[in-house]
Amino acid sequence: MGLGYQDTPIIPGTNWHVHDGERPQPKVVTPGTFSDQNAAGTPPSDAIVLFDGTSLDGWVGNDGPAKWRLVEGGAMEVVPGTGNIKTKAHFGDCQLHVEFAAPIVVKGESQGRGNSGVFLMGLYEIQVLDCYENPTYPDGTTGGIYGQYPPLVNACRKPGEWNVYDILWEGPRFKGEELVRPARVTVMFNGVVLHHGTVLQGPTQHRQLAEYHPHPEVGPLELQDHGDLVRFRNVWYRPLKAYDVA
Ligand code: MG
Repeated sequence: MGLGYQDTPIIPGTNWHVHDGERPQPKVVTPGTFSDQNAAGTPPSDAIVLFDGTSLDGWVGNDGPAKWRLVEGGAMEVVPGTGNIKTKAHFGDCQLHVEFAAPIVVKGESQGRGNSGVFLMGLYEIQVLDCYENPTYPDGTTGGIYGQYPPLVNACRKPGEWNVYDILWEGPRFKGEELVRPARVTVMFNGVVLHHGTVLQGPTQHRQLAEYHPHPEVGPLELQDHGDLVRFRNVWYRPLKAYDVA
């Protein structure tokens, strides 16, 4: 007695019968725990941890080691002027988890308040900004696909409080010089959807239209030094795989 059926129709686009007991079992993953304002949660058992609060060993600066600083609460903080940092790990399609807090001391306005950014593959920015009672141009709001799409809503917590990004990223695909599939992203922010399967127009630009140019299928995660004391914690990802992959 098998687990399922093999006298049922084949599901279109697959090699499997409806309720096929021979179909690969989903891999077992032990879920993590959610973060709260006091402490970061834990990642799922198969996550690849990029930052757990203990070291910057997994990161590099523009020319040498990452120069941001570790701070209390298992976090790291931008050291203004030291530049963006990026992961040594390069990866493509993924589920990405990133938490950040805007500076407690509120200064500046619009793009000058608590600016940083999450750059997928080092190229595609999901904006990080203190947008709590701080209007700016909509496609530069926190959670915006910078310069392309504003977030569906502004769900920012107060400065100093932790915000949570959960991002589903599918990078673009190129065949030679040709774009065969644009990048696509779904973004949850503090449990609120900001983008749902949104197709990107190209790598992030400032005051210009975005445009695709061929690049590898993997790249680093990059965090932006925009001169503000933004903190990050609990950064991890899981590669996004196809169905039926053990
Ligand atoms: Mg930014």
